[in-house]
Amino acid sequence: MDIQILPQALRKFFALLTVLSLLLAGIGVVGPDVKDTDIQNVIFFIGDGMGPNHLEKTKAETGAELAMDTFPLQGFSKTANYVGTTTDSAAGGTALATGIRTTNGCIGVYPTDMFAYDSYPMNLTELFMEAGKKTGVVTSDSTAGATPASFSAHTDSRDNTKIITNQQLASGIDLIWGANSGHADAEKVEAAGYKFVDSYEDILALEEGDKSFAQFSNELWRAAGGESYPTLSLLTEAAINFLKNDDNGFFLMVEGAHIDKNSHKQNAEGTKEALLEFDRAVQAALDFAEENGNTLIVISADHETGNIKLKNGVYEFNSGSHSRQNVIVRVYGSEDMIEPGEVMKNREIPVRIARELGFGADVFPRTIKKAAAA
Ligand SMILES: [Zn+2]
Repeated sequence: MDIQILPQALRKFFALLTVLSLLLAGIGVVGPDVKDTDIQNVIFFIGDGMGPNHLEKTKAETGAELAMDTFPLQGFSKTANYVGTTTDSAAGGTALATGIRTTNGCIGVYPTDMFAYDSYPMNLTELFMEAGKKTGVVTSDSTAGATPASFSAHTDSRDNTKIITNQQLASGIDLIWGANSGHADAEKVEAAGYKFVDSYEDILALEEGDKSFAQFSNELWRAAGGESYPTLSLLTEAAINFLKNDDNGFFLMVEGAHIDKNSHKQNAEGTKEALLEFDRAVQAALDFAEENGNTLIVISADHETGNIKLKNGVYEFNSGSHSRQNVIVRVYGSEDMIEPGEVMKNREIPVRIARELGFGADVFPRTIKKAAAA
């Protein structure tokens, strides 16, 4: 064979490869942009129905200073669902949990494959569990409510509360705490390998390695608290204390559900009570994060409820339903997860959270194939 031809052909081949890889890198195909990070823990707060004016109204009427306002990075989220209309908590929660927008009513499934025949989008809880972190879902709503469900289940309807509960009990999530779903008695919960919890005392009695499923009373959101309905701030503090003793860190989602529920009723007093208790839960997380130093806290909402606007110097409700107002995004523990004042789509938020933990764009959002998942 002619020895002159081969090196020349090889040179051409490598030159072509170089050009190709430069082209691909330029359009972001080669190699994810992975962030070098020290963040171990993530606490994701969702104020259901909480728009920027919920904060302003509460401050104007109570003179309170909010922990949420002390967050160094502040921006906004556009809350529309997959078809571009006003979202409900199922589609809103799904966007925040999975990085994809879906149809109203849907929990953790694609709008194009609603019954998850073929696939479904992974949620943040699953991503971090796979990465070896402890995981928790805490809400003042029923454990089967749309927001906690978005972080722990995949089903075509938020009304499938029994399916949601069964999936949660099979999820492996370390703690799922909220109000009674009506589908999980002590016997069923324990058969699934979870400790059944329905009082604050039960929570304090949990031991390392326990998985727990709490079914509190519906008064759970109240700022006063009680034995069968500890406050959201107390639950947040207890969840952090339980999850923090792990070398791999933890992921915790905390929902304040009654900002939405009271806003539907245009109940100003109840809305304030729920928001201030949610803010105390945020303060509990901040206290931990400031000491810990490796914790990311993100606060947002699935949508605004009540269309609160400033009229003649007074913040007033203008409806009893969800609005298209942008909601807040606040970040503690990162210098650049968002640009100051940035307005982003809701589905961007979990993708950015994953990136803060060092996951590339090719890792999250992520599709789980049904056959592979089974
Ligand atoms: Zn609502």
